[in-house]
Amino acid sequence: MTPIRLGIAGVGKIARDQHLPAIAANPDFELVAAASRHAGVEGVPSYADFGEMLETEPSIEAVALCVPPEPRRAMAELAIARGKHVLLEKPPGATLSEVEHLIDLAREAGVTLFATWHSRFAPAVETARDLLADANIEAVAVTWKEDVRRWHPGQDWIWEPGGFGVFDPGINALSIVTAILPRPLMLLSADLTFPRNRAQPIAASLTFRDTADVPVGMEFDWRQTGPQSWDVEVASDKGRLLISGGGARASLDGRSLVDETEAEYPGIYRHFADLVRAGRSDADLTPLRHVADAFMAGRRHETEAFHDGPAGA
Ligand code: NAP
Repeated sequence: MTPIRLGIAGVGKIARDQHLPAIAANPDFELVAAASRHAGVEGVPSYADFGEMLETEPSIEAVALCVPPEPRRAMAELAIARGKHVLLEKPPGATLSEVEHLIDLAREAGVTLFATWHSRFAPAVETARDLLADANIEAVAVTWKEDVRRWHPGQDWIWEPGGFGVFDPGINALSIVTAILPRPLMLLSADLTFPRNRAQPIAASLTFRDTADVPVGMEFDWRQTGPQSWDVEVASDKGRLLISGGGARASLDGRSLVDETEAEYPGIYRHFADLVRAGRSDADLTPLRHVADAFMAGRRHETEAFHDGPAGA
């Protein structure tokens, strides 16, 4: 089958670490151009301006938008207007309304819109969903604690409005939980902790109930040094399910169910190719809606100023 001609936008950390290797390994795609203000991709024409890339490379059929959420909407609108299929990195946008608008635009234009949630492609997710489908769930506890200095050095956008703060990783946990639990969640309370000098939270504590009244608690924190925690624990009549490593591993009452090397982005590109070939879109906004609820209904707390660089610097 002829490969889908792809342009990539925003050549930063995730584009280099994950998108470019996954695209190179997938014969369904041919990378034909890149757009980034300060970077390029070796071997393909690189443009500082996204619009110029689309203008100069009319053979592009699809674009992968790896820029931060805030500048993504304008690029997606332009690409859809030019009849291109669009892959959005997570979170799919800075607001719910703008992504809903993109869904409408893509439908009207007859192109694919794929709002990716990379953590849903983690190996333990499908096993957990199958296990919990008919389980009697008693409680769910999420612990998503990492060191922002280690994972987001110098990324100022993440602290700005529309950058999501600790919800940038936290929304990955939400994308897993909303994929594996059989019933929808509703937020009961949220406590958001903001560094005095930043517009976005460094920690969040959320409590939910599902529609059968099962309690679901989530702790997100960006101040964790040492071992990092990306865990979901589900107590049910089937035992204690522990999903760890961000979805790479799962165990039931200590017995290993899944332990695989991470391959989320190859899965994302396989699904994108399937969507484009089938003329379908995939844009589930549930994780984004929960984050919006937390910002809307959350209580604000203030903590010491955060400065990038080594802790305490
Ligand atoms: P990043 O390293 O900052 O890269 C994003 C790139 O987008 C920048 O290098 C920049 O390249 C370009 N850009 C265009 N407009 C921008 C603007 N207004 N502000 C900042 N950069 C702008 O960020 P990233 O870690 O790759 O994250 C990008 C997206 O991927 C985010 O939505 C993030 O949640 C998601 N993601 C990240 C990871 C991760 O581990 N880092 C994992 C999964 C998903 P130019 O300056 O060359 O234009």
